[in-house]
Amino acid sequence: MKVSIDAERCQGHGRCFSLAPSLFDADDLGNGFVLGDGTLSAESLELARLAELNCPEHAISIEE
Ligand code: SF4
Repeated sequence: MKVSIDAERCQGHGRCFSLAPSLFDADDLGNGFVLGDGTLSAESLELARLAELNCPEHAISIEE
């Protein structure tokens, strides 16, 4: 499973990197980006789902 952020949708609210700083960080504009290649372990999948649910722009997606 992999997590990704749609940069076109992201408006920089910062919930992703606040909730899951091990998976996301902020760029210079405050927009979220995925750390590394986004590959999720069983443990980080739960964090990624939490971020996905809390992103107000629905910019976060998790795919096989
Ligand atoms: S929570 Fe969503 S809108 Fe906010 S920084 Fe993260 S991806 Fe962007």
